[in-house]
Amino acid sequence: MTDIIIVGGGPAGVSAALTAKNRGKSVLVISNPAEESFLWKAEAVDNYPGLPHISGQELLSSFRAQLETAGIEVKTARALSAMPMGESFFVTTGSEDFSAGALILAMGVTPQATFPGESDFLGRGVSYCATCDGMLYRGKSVAVIGLNSEARAEADFLRSIGCEVEFFDKARAKKYEIRGGDFANELIADGESFAVDGIFILRSTIAPSNFVAGLETDKGHIVVDADMRTSVAGVFAAGDCIGRPYQIARAAGQGNTAALSACEYLDKK
Ligand SMILES: Cc1cc2nc3c(=O)[nH]c(=O)nc-3n(C[C@H](O)[C@H](O)[C@H](O)COP(=O)(O)OP(=O)(O)OC[C@H]3O[C@@H](n4cnc5c(N)ncnc54)[C@H](O)[C@@H]3O)c2cc1C
Repeated sequence: MTDIIIVGGGPAGVSAALTAKNRGKSVLVISNPAEESFLWKAEAVDNYPGLPHISGQELLSSFRAQLETAGIEVKTARALSAMPMGESFFVTTGSEDFSAGALILAMGVTPQATFPGESDFLGRGVSYCATCDGMLYRGKSVAVIGLNSEARAEADFLRSIGCEVEFFDKARAKKYEIRGGDFANELIADGESFAVDGIFILRSTIAPSNFVAGLETDKGHIVVDADMRTSVAGVFAAGDCIGRPYQIARAAGQGNTAALSACEYLDKK
């Protein structure tokens, strides 16, 4: 078991990882590929101390190199959920599972609000992971709402195991609603109804409230106190995922605070 799992490898997550490691904790960072992060697109950053006019790409590459030098493990994957299990947390990427004594959420902005019905039917016909849940829908009809770069490949995987797949992307529909009874059985896409047995929603990020059950959020941002503690004991958050202003220096500072709080939490256990 790792001491601290950090979800997100941007400024907040990297700063948290370095601080926690300096405090003698074992750390695992789980993050999407750096090229998929918003910061990667920044042409020039002029307000980060000591590194004038650095590009987002250079900054992120330097962050990754620093993690490697510090001996911090980085898993390139999308974390799907975290579940409290007694004194620890169980984090899954779909293909792999990890456990830790504390969690730091540094997932950046998760812009998309969930679709109507999505949270209600999550685990009851709605899934975020074709690899994890595809077999449940073998021989059945499913809808895939593909909003990340792997979505088409995931849809192909579902077809390969015998699912009848209706694929939606941004070009096909903009508004979705999920309906059903005990389980989801209908997708409304831009007003058109599709009868399905399951709905896969594939995004790069997961809404924080669906990532950890019971996590308090406000307009999509994770609610924290001044020490970056969330409403769930042992879970801390930092950076853009806790609100505006969205800035690198702020995210790095909050990552540092979150790590110190997580270390204190573990030391008191
Ligand atoms: C074009 C552009 C220019 C910018 N210019 C500046 C600037 O000049 N100065 C400045 O201060 N700020 C700037 N910003 C804002 C800055 O990029 C952010 O404030 C900062 O990156 C936030 O850091 P973070 O660590 O909170 O989140 P992020 O940098 O967004 O990192 C979060 C990471 O977590 C990953 N992630 C999310 N969910 C999951 C999951 N479930 N599993 C695995 N990984 C996950 C994301 O893909 C991402 O890689 C700019 C932003 C953009 C888009």
